[in-house]
Amino acid sequence: MRRSDTFEIPIRGMDCAGCVSTVQRAIASVPGVEQVEVYLASEKAVIRSNGGALDIAAVRRAVEGAGYEAPAQSEMEETTAELELTNRHAMLTFGTVFLVVLLVAVLGEGLGLFETLASSIPWPLWLAGILLGGFPIFRDVIRAALRGQILAHSLMSVGALAAVVAGEWPTAAVVVFFMRVGAFVEGFTADRSRRALRDLRELAPQIARVDRGDQEVEIPLAEVHPGDIVLVRPGETIPVDGEVLDGRATIDQASITGESLPVEVGPGSQVYSATIAQLGALRVRADRIGPDSTFGQVIQLVEDAEGNRAHVERLADRFSGYYLPVVLAVALLTYVLSANALASVAVLVVACSCSIALATPVAMLASIGAGAKQGLLIKGGKMLERLAEADVLLIDKTGTVTFGRPEITDVVPLNGAAEEELIRLAASTERHSEHPLAAAVRQAALERKLETTEPSDFESRPGRGVRARIGPDWITVGSSTMVEAAFTPPADLVTDGKTLLYVTRNDELIGVLAAADSQRQEVPRTITSLGELGFGRIEILTGDHEAATRPLADKLGVPFRAGLLPEDKIEIVRSLQERGHLVVMVGDGVNDAPALAQADVGIAMGVAGTDIAIESADIALMTDDWALVPQVVRMARRTMGIVRGNLAFTAVYNLIGLSLAAFGLLPPVLAAAAQSLPDLGIMANSSRLLRQR
Ligand code: ADP
Ligand code: MG
Repeated sequence: MRRSDTFEIPIRGMDCAGCVSTVQRAIASVPGVEQVEVYLASEKAVIRSNGGALDIAAVRRAVEGAGYEAPAQSEMEETTAELELTNRHAMLTFGTVFLVVLLVAVLGEGLGLFETLASSIPWPLWLAGILLGGFPIFRDVIRAALRGQILAHSLMSVGALAAVVAGEWPTAAVVVFFMRVGAFVEGFTADRSRRALRDLRELAPQIARVDRGDQEVEIPLAEVHPGDIVLVRPGETIPVDGEVLDGRATIDQASITGESLPVEVGPGSQVYSATIAQLGALRVRADRIGPDSTFGQVIQLVEDAEGNRAHVERLADRFSGYYLPVVLAVALLTYVLSANALASVAVLVVACSCSIALATPVAMLASIGAGAKQGLLIKGGKMLERLAEADVLLIDKTGTVTFGRPEITDVVPLNGAAEEELIRLAASTERHSEHPLAAAVRQAALERKLETTEPSDFESRPGRGVRARIGPDWITVGSSTMVEAAFTPPADLVTDGKTLLYVTRNDELIGVLAAADSQRQEVPRTITSLGELGFGRIEILTGDHEAATRPLADKLGVPFRAGLLPEDKIEIVRSLQERGHLVVMVGDGVNDAPALAQADVGIAMGVAGTDIAIESADIALMTDDWALVPQVVRMARRTMGIVRGNLAFTAVYNLIGLSLAAFGLLPPVLAAAAQSLPDLGIMANSSRLLRQR
């Protein structure tokens, strides 16, 4: 994922879409930077350099010059814990102060207190208060103005300035106060949406106890190498992905699968980093560590999710670009038409809010974070948006509708071949294939205690079969399309819905193996509920033979297309898309990866431990529980509902505020208080997604 010419640096201090574009522009101006994307919620910039080396120090200076921080990675870790604490206190203090000041503002305005105040305090004191209180914001605004940019706060600052010019000292002071409040709320909202990611990062193990010959040493995870023997005691978190060598334990894998039911493991079992060993101690051989582990990939994926922006989010971003100039125009127009300076100050002040830019990402990130905790990896808002609207569902058969753990049930030697020889040759040919059928053939050899030989010139033809040289002979194992066999299989094998594997030696058919796979129990129920969720078309696509697919598809009451090569599957997806459908494809993400990639939303099931599956899917389900499919569809719909709610709310709120202000019905003081409310509303509305199940 991380190419050598791509750099990531953390950025601190951004709390608004305006900040994002400021930082983006600052970094883009550094020589050697070809492309840069800045992410508000994960607080980082991803930079691609043109060619090799990039002067990171120069990038840092550029970021700092624009008024933001670019801490080194280690400083970041330390500050997160503090931030969490200060957040909670700050929220309380903020709520109280906000209410008190709001009360004072309303009363003051109503009772004419401000006039009394204005005349009793000398103006230099007001000015000092305003300048001191607004300093950090004025500084940003002036810096931006020098670069020819308008920030949301630029308008408010102009408003405050206008109030000063009009001699309305208390108004200017209140505007400045609420400007700070608004900035705080925005910062808090942005920070809140980072929390899911932070929670996840905190689950990542930091140290491991490693067996170094005659002693046990506790070392930082970064010093553990693949092949090291890691010791895990009861109650401890497993620090690496690996294989259990000794011991038995029950493991809570909730951090990865979201499934709280403990799993039993013993020698030979695969265990995952960040899961917890309850009862029982283990010796584990470390295979994948830190960022390479499944949990490391989950974190990376959630961090990258912000890059897959939803379409509405891009629209909102573009809209906010036009919004500020429009507000400025309305304020001028108000002044020209009504000669009411206070009304145009109110216009400038009330409309200043990032809420339109925040409405989408805050909700998306809340859902992505909540999903990650339940074993649903959603790669971005774009995927949620498409999933919420999709109308066609295509399902891969092998490993998806079925368990993908087929067993060889019948062995039919032909043309004088011996049964054992047939299986031995087939299993040797399948030695290096990752297909579930290959595993079944190898298992058949193992059960009969047959020695297999190493194949040479191994060649795998996806969707068809495999071919290799065993000793002097060319052996092929695969579907009838692979071998062009002139052979009519026995009727009972066909009607049982078994998958037939044809085996040839030097192009002569030497036998047929029949494999049976059992269907997952929960599939019929899930397909029914997906139908109810509005998928007008649900269809099974498979590379397997028609006769093997029909019994299963009939049982599910779903149409199917069989005998498909991987490229046929892609073509089917594409032609549906051309007819205007939004296509979801569910598969295991291994041998159907190309079709998953072509679909608008590719969902891979049971991905824990398989890199390709995690990479090829738009949404990856850690376990192979079908119930997660409708669950993630519902989650997507709910998220889009909240996003639409957020957008509608801010649009209506700002429109009403703007109209009231323009007609002189909203005093600037109240306008200032009102402008920070939409952000709070968005945060409250979106945080409902954090708790969804
Ligand atoms: P599905 O679309 O159901 O997931 P695949 O596309 O993976 O199935 O495979 C389609 C067919 O190709 C299988 O039913 C089998 O006949 C044949 N095939 C694919 N890979 C292998 C293999 N490694 N060994 C034997 N047969 C294979
Ligand atoms: Mg498959």
